[in-house]
Amino acid sequence: MQKIDTLISARWVIPVNESREVLDYYSVAVDKGIIIAVMPTNEAKTTFEADEAVDLGEQALIPGFINTHGHAAMALFRGMSDDLALMTWLNDHVWPAEGKWVGESFVADGTRLAAAEMIRSGTTTFSDNYFFPESAAQSVVDAGLRAQICFSVIDFPTNWASTPDEHIELGLKAMQRYQGHSHVKMTFGPHAPYTCSDAPLLRIRELANEHNVTIQMHIHETQVEVDGELEKRGSRPIRRLKELGLLGPDFQAVHMTALSDEDIDDIAETGTHVMHCPESNLKLASGFCPVDKLQQKGINVSLGTDGAASNNDLDMLGEMRTAAILAKAVSQNAEALPAHEAIAMATINGAKALAWDKEIGSLEVGKRADITAIALDDLESQPIFDPVSHIVYASTRNQISNVWVDGKQLLKDRELTTLDKAAIIENAKQWREKIQNS
Ligand SMILES: [Zn+2]
Repeated sequence: MQKIDTLISARWVIPVNESREVLDYYSVAVDKGIIIAVMPTNEAKTTFEADEAVDLGEQALIPGFINTHGHAAMALFRGMSDDLALMTWLNDHVWPAEGKWVGESFVADGTRLAAAEMIRSGTTTFSDNYFFPESAAQSVVDAGLRAQICFSVIDFPTNWASTPDEHIELGLKAMQRYQGHSHVKMTFGPHAPYTCSDAPLLRIRELANEHNVTIQMHIHETQVEVDGELEKRGSRPIRRLKELGLLGPDFQAVHMTALSDEDIDDIAETGTHVMHCPESNLKLASGFCPVDKLQQKGINVSLGTDGAASNNDLDMLGEMRTAAILAKAVSQNAEALPAHEAIAMATINGAKALAWDKEIGSLEVGKRADITAIALDDLESQPIFDPVSHIVYASTRNQISNVWVDGKQLLKDRELTTLDKAAIIENAKQWREKIQNS
């Protein structure tokens, strides 16, 4: 018998591999944080002697969700201002509140709250786009999660830095500090076409090449943005970014609504990734991302919740369901984004977009053991013809039972193991009081 750290067995294993298999009565063997085998449970039990054997029964194991776009610290602004269009929401509510409150402790506390929520929703990796990236990174490391942390670059002064160049300088320092870190990738997060002029964008492209890192940016969030840019610069945002040399396989375009056929060709031609955030787009009445059309052109589309101030949760299971049903309505085709592809969008596609797919995104031998278990044993999941269908169309995040990152258990029977839930709740209440009474 081979000695290993952990053997996790479940009724179903959905590895999200190339052939989109669903494996019955399977186990995932983990040693030193790596998946070393995915095999039938009866075989695994005679092959491995595990320090910890976890038998989950009527549950499904899937790769941990990869939430490819959000603003974690904004969890502290959850529900602060709702039912508004994007520019009113930003100009009159979000930006003034950020000016007043955002600093190191806000970012550390908000990111910790978001991390706890994400772990309890089955997310093991997320992408963040905010200020004070080292404070965010510390909370990510404390939680045991993985994150791509895109530091914001924007034309106007923020609490973090006063010029675009200063944003870049501070970001480069953070990048240097976290270089080679197994759980944190620091990278560039220029805010949006309407808040970033050409000079910082060109500098970011050069630096991204030099440091071999990605770039994430909000693009085509609304028709208003596209019209405004056409009027101001005479070109559509995607074309402008293409002409500046920004687009490419290391470029992550968030939102992507209001797309023309030429826009889609530009995205496909350059190998740019698209981060689809359906619930934020719906709530802010921003527009629709034509997911089916993009996928037909071979474009990699991943999923993101966006920040809790515009969603208002960080629930990838809910986001996946919204994406799956919205894709059908938008394309007027009920066959668009079938359930298994929706799970792929929330896992392996995200890993590809974040250039992390050699290590995470599927349950396959050699990958890091980032695993989410979902309970399908209760009444609301009966009867089960197809666990994939239930996960996408008939499950809620309360069914997320156990979560591992690097083989380390972060959620055990719905209890957080790395973070103090009571302290996080108390801290969030204190922030609410401060913000409301200001
Ligand atoms: Zn966003």
